[in-house]
Amino acid sequence: MSGSVTFPQTLLNERLDDHFHDQCGVFGVQGHPEAANITYLGLYALQHRGQESAGIVAVDAGQHRVHRAMGLVADIFGENTLAKLTGRHAVGHVRYSTSGESQLLNAQPFCATTDAGPVAIAHNGNLVNAFAIRRELEGRGAIFSTTADSEVIVQLLARSREKTLEERLIDSLSRVKGAFSLVVMTSDTLIAARDPNGFRPLSLGRLDGAWIVASETCALDLIGATHERDLDPGEVVVIKRGRLRTLRPFDRDRPEHFCIFEHIYFARPDSTLNGQSVYTFRKELGRVLAREHPVQADLVVPVLDSGNTAAMGYAEVAGVPYEQAIIRNHYVKRTFIEPAQSIRHFGVKVKHNAVSEILKGKRVVLVDDSIIRGTTLIKLVTMMRSAGAREVHLRISSPPTIGPCHYGIDTPTRDELIAHNHSVDEICKIIGADSLGYLSIEGLHQTAASMKRGFCDACFSDDYPIDVETSGSPPQLSLFRTVSQGDD
Ligand code: AMP
Repeated sequence: MSGSVTFPQTLLNERLDDHFHDQCGVFGVQGHPEAANITYLGLYALQHRGQESAGIVAVDAGQHRVHRAMGLVADIFGENTLAKLTGRHAVGHVRYSTSGESQLLNAQPFCATTDAGPVAIAHNGNLVNAFAIRRELEGRGAIFSTTADSEVIVQLLARSREKTLEERLIDSLSRVKGAFSLVVMTSDTLIAARDPNGFRPLSLGRLDGAWIVASETCALDLIGATHERDLDPGEVVVIKRGRLRTLRPFDRDRPEHFCIFEHIYFARPDSTLNGQSVYTFRKELGRVLAREHPVQADLVVPVLDSGNTAAMGYAEVAGVPYEQAIIRNHYVKRTFIEPAQSIRHFGVKVKHNAVSEILKGKRVVLVDDSIIRGTTLIKLVTMMRSAGAREVHLRISSPPTIGPCHYGIDTPTRDELIAHNHSVDEICKIIGADSLGYLSIEGLHQTAASMKRGFCDACFSDDYPIDVETSGSPPQLSLFRTVSQGDD
C-alpha cells in the first residue's frame, strides 16, 4: 500500500471511542548513524504488537523525515525508503486498532510543527480522558486530523505555555490519564515516558554508544543492544547528545498497575518484563494450572503459539507427553479471500490444522492462554474430534476474561466476551469440550507475587484502576477517509 493520502473521498462519521483501542509497539534511537535501519529492525521484532500500520520518523539536521503506511513492517520499508530516512535519531511505531476501519491517518509516529520546534510522537497505551480533552480543545477551535487518542498529547503539547518541548510534553502528559509508554523525538532529543501507573512496558538499551528505547527487550536483542533497564512507572528520560537525564514529574503516590496480560499473552516469550522472563512466567502458569485442574489424559496439546509455553508447564506437572498436534500456518494475514464455494471449516483450517495420526483415540488436554469470544476454541475442539480425539479437555492459563481492556489491549466489548455472559460450565458446553478449567485468579496472583510489582488485572477481576472519562456520549466525527491505491 502506498503512503499517500488522497483528499477528499468519503466523509466518515464514526464514534470516537471506536478508535480508542489501539495495540501498539514503540521504538526510538538517539545517536546512531543507522538510526532508521535499526528502528526498522526494532519494529520488526515488535510486529506482534501491531500489524495494521507502521511508521518511522528519522531526524537529520533538525529535519524530520517520515514514512508511514498500512501493512507489515517488512512490506512497508524497503532499502530505498530506509535510505531516504537519514539521520542519527529516529522513532518508530507499529499499530493495530480494533476499529473496523483502520486508517493511514491514524498511523504513527504523529508529526507536528510547533513554535518550539518539530516533534514526532509514538504512543503505546490508551488514554482514558482523551474524549474529554478532545471535546474541550475542539470547543476552543482545535482541529484534529486523526481519530486516535494519542493526538490529544500532540494538541496539548502544541498549546502548552511552557517554553521547551520537554517542558511542554511533561505539561501535556500531566493532563492525560490512562496508559502511555511513548517515545518523542524533537530536532535533537529523544524523550521516553511511562505513565505513573506503568501499564505498558518500556525498556532502555545501548548500542555502539547510542541509546535505544523499545516496548520490549526482544527488540533490543534483535539489534544486538544491551538491555540497561526498564523505565520506572512515571519516569521520563531525556536523551540528548548521548547523555541521559531522568525526571519524575508526575504524582508519585500512584500505585503501579503493570498489565498482567502482557505476561500472559501479549508480549513475546523471549522478552523480559520488569525483570521477569515472559517464557518462564507462562510456563509457571501452566504448572499451576495443572495442579489446579488435573485430568486423566494421554497428551497435552497447545493452541499455537499463544498456549505453547503454558502447555509445556502443564505437561511437565501432569507427567503427560506434550505434542504439537495442531499445526499453525504462520503466513495467514488478518484478512484473506474466502472461496466462493464454502469449504468445511475453511476459516479455522486456514490458520490451524490437526495431525490426526497423533490425536486418533487419544484423551487430549488442549491448552490456550485465554478465551475471548470463544470462536477459536469452538472450531479447534470440533476439528480435534473430527481428527479422532476421544476426549478434549480445555485448560486456560488465565482466569475468565470478563471485562474489556481500557489501557491498550485490543479486546471486544463486554457483551462479546463469552465469560462475561456465561458460567464456566456453559462455556464448556458452548465450546463442546469434555471439561474446562481456567487458572484461578488466586493462582495468577500467587504466580505474579514473586515479581513484587503491582498489576492491573481488570480484564479478569473487573477492578479498573482508572475509570474511563467519556463526558457523556462520544462526539460524532467527520473525517476524510484515507484511500490508498493498490489496497487489494
Ligand atoms: P477467541 O477465539 O475470540 O476466543 O480468541 C481467543 C484467542 O485469541 C486465543 O488463542 C488468544 O491467545 C487470542 N487472543 C487473546 N487476546 C488477544 C488479543 N488482544 N488480540 C489477538 N488475539 C488475542
